[in-house]
Amino acid sequence: MTTRRLALILGDQLSFDLPSLQALDPQQDAVLLAEVAAETDYVPHHPQKIALIFSAMRHFAEALREHGWRVQYVALDDPDNSGSLPGELQRWVAQLQATEVHVTECGEWRLEDQLKRSGVPITWHADSRFICGRDEFVQWAEGRKQLRMEFFYREMRRKTGLLLNGDGTPVGGAWNFDAENRKALPKQIKAPMTARFSADAITQDVLVLVAGRFSHHYGSLASFDYPVTHADAEALWQHFLDFALPAFGDYQDAMAVGEPFLFHARISAALNIGLLDVRRLCADVEAAYWRGQVPLNAAEGFIRQLIGWREYVRGIYWMHMPEYAERNAFGNTRPLPEFYWTGKTRMKCMSQAIGQTLEHAYAHHIQRLMVTGNFALLAGIQPSQVCDWYLAVYMDAFDWVELPNTLGMVMHADGGYLGSKPYCASGQYIKRMSNYCGDCAYKVTESVGEQACPFNALYWHFLMRHREQLSGNHRLGMIYRGLDKMSDAKQQGLWARGEQLLARLDAGDAL
Ligand SMILES: Cc1cc2nc3c(=O)[nH]c(=O)nc-3n(C[C@H](O)[C@H](O)[C@H](O)COP(=O)(O)OP(=O)(O)OC[C@H]3O[C@@H](n4cnc5c(N)ncnc54)[C@H](O)[C@@H]3O)c2cc1C
Ligand code: SF4
Repeated sequence: MTTRRLALILGDQLSFDLPSLQALDPQQDAVLLAEVAAETDYVPHHPQKIALIFSAMRHFAEALREHGWRVQYVALDDPDNSGSLPGELQRWVAQLQATEVHVTECGEWRLEDQLKRSGVPITWHADSRFICGRDEFVQWAEGRKQLRMEFFYREMRRKTGLLLNGDGTPVGGAWNFDAENRKALPKQIKAPMTARFSADAITQDVLVLVAGRFSHHYGSLASFDYPVTHADAEALWQHFLDFALPAFGDYQDAMAVGEPFLFHARISAALNIGLLDVRRLCADVEAAYWRGQVPLNAAEGFIRQLIGWREYVRGIYWMHMPEYAERNAFGNTRPLPEFYWTGKTRMKCMSQAIGQTLEHAYAHHIQRLMVTGNFALLAGIQPSQVCDWYLAVYMDAFDWVELPNTLGMVMHADGGYLGSKPYCASGQYIKRMSNYCGDCAYKVTESVGEQACPFNALYWHFLMRHREQLSGNHRLGMIYRGLDKMSDAKQQGLWARGEQLLARLDAGDAL
């Protein structure tokens, strides 16, 4: 029997309700999944990220076969593998004599562009796994000079009906309870055990493949314990609902030595590759709130991340790619310091955040934003190098979500389009939200001198060198007034220490 139609399923599209699958008939059509070098090599992805995607793809292919689908699966080491997705598509269209090809829109502009230029006519399907479609976001954003997540989020609350009273007002009398979600972790509170998943035969094969092919990429494979099937992703989610969600809000921004996960869900990678469904997750969280199992600040905070931030960054990405990736509002040119790949620096906060990233391909939001991101912002690192690092090292990193978070939120390289002010902070913020500073070679209470916390002088240096661009920002007005009240000698001391730290970075010093 000739296959009439073929669906290409990408490694981050492992959902049974994917529109391109729904459009086909398992009785007569075929599905193609391919592991290709072009996708593993365009940045040096963390080995655990590659293992996750390949293992989840192989499990999904098995599940599709069990559902009666005819699946063509191309393994990375298949001698006929052309090495790219356009190449595999061309090869299999010819081999199966497919007359129609169906693809759900990609997560990455780069790949969608490659497929559109592949010469294969494709029927494209909108990705219904997101709450806000690409066009819908453009309509919302039209005519706005600056976008604000908060207003978009309220639209999404109205659209989904989540945490709304019968009259459409927000439950609890406010849309956002973020002010309650900034507590440091008290010593007596311990994070729950993490849910771990052991490797079955499929995953073990993949781990061997990845260990052999990608040992030159930064990051360890040893602690791989991530879910690779829908059932295990579900178990990870249930574990979070039962043990971590109630405290998620309170300690959302907290950081602690030796605690990589705290009360975070660790579901981003499973969600981004299609093992979990965003609407289901939000419904579960809302139900837990109505049952009285979790406080409102936890439920609202979690739902905001999913229907607010996650959908918002995706909308911005698709509205402005590919030029968004080139933005560099501060004109930064400094290369990414080598210690981002090794974690070898005397700054405890940085060594903790980078160290756990290398070990688990994971750091939580505040570590990404206020530690590694904050340092890159203050040190004036070139945004594209910072973005490539985030894209490589995190298990959940796909361009549509990583790029706006890094380039827009962290580096403020879009000039304030995504966020109203740079998330710059001195060591005082890290001290308040963590116990890192007590165990650091530097003194967070000092700003100048050899022992002084590098974040402190770099913070003021950043504000001084970008005064022209930033002093008019009303959210930074108080900070600039504080700077202006400092004596000339103090300002000169901070500037000199900042210059010295930047010169040391330029000389390859890991600080
Ligand atoms: C510089 C930087 C880069 C980032 N890169 C990525 C990335 O490549 N992929 C990614 O999924 N997230 C990214 N994030 C957002 C966030 O850090 C991760 O989603 C989160 O840490 C994942 O861990 P978790 O599942 O335990 O999340 P939790 O803290 O438990 O949060 C729950 C969920 O909310 C969603 N979420 C939270 N914040 C964001 C956000 N800002 N943007 C999008 N979704 C969000 C995620 O799906 C996450 O799983 C980035 C953040 C920053 C500051
Ligand atoms: S003292 Fe500074 S460098 Fe050290 S952990 Fe604290 S904030 Fe980080």
